[in-house]
Amino acid sequence: MLLEPEAKLICVEYGIPVTKFKVAADEEEAVKLAGEIGYPVVLKIVSPEIIHKSDAGGVMVNLQNASDVSEAYRKILENVKKYDANAKIIGVLVQEMAPQSTETIVGAIKDPQFGQTMMFGLGGVFVELLKDVSFRIAPITADDAREMITQLKAYPLLKGFRNSPPADIDALVSVLLNTSRLVMENPEIKELDLNPVLVYQKGAKTVDARIILE
Ligand code: ADP
Ligand code: MG
Repeated sequence: MLLEPEAKLICVEYGIPVTKFKVAADEEEAVKLAGEIGYPVVLKIVSPEIIHKSDAGGVMVNLQNASDVSEAYRKILENVKKYDANAKIIGVLVQEMAPQSTETIVGAIKDPQFGQTMMFGLGGVFVELLKDVSFRIAPITADDAREMITQLKAYPLLKGFRNSPPADIDALVSVLLNTSRLVMENPEIKELDLNPVLVYQKGAKTVDARIILE
């Protein structure tokens, strides 16, 4: 499994927008990097043993200043040690806090029969409870990507509904196309998860990325 900073570096290579990030080795460095990135920031554990970071208490969002960062740094290490005493800790990821917005999921999985296959859905209950997701065999075209979005039952939410403004569908199409290219050019990828990708009225941003290799 590639760690979040490794997976995000690959995303950047493929033109997939991600939150600004840096890895800190200690508390003091975390504060320094937070200042460089700009507040508010998010801190996350970086450990090969921790796959679901928030389950381990390894994600702290909306940190407003240096003392928030120091406190969150200590709390994350404490939580993770309690969760898995043997987890190897590489460091703590300091990243830009993305403004809240609609959460989407972009995924790819290498199917034994169909090869690299793309998935798209809206985050949270839409995927987990309602299974409102779309699939296409990669490589996909721009038309395929657009269909993956518009075929969702939840599409009206993206198009703009009551007080939720319309989301930037073109930005999502571009993330899907670039992800398709990424997995086609790197067949050793068994699974890729951009979860969530926040989508705005203008643009989109990946706040978490995971890549599993064969
Ligand atoms: P994991 O999926 O491993 O538990 P995430 O990195 O996805 O960890 O973080 C959990 C949740 O925290 C995300 O689904 C998102 O809602 C929020 N989050 C994480 N990073 C950011 C960020 N940089 N900006 C805003 N929200 C974030
Ligand atoms: Mg996640």
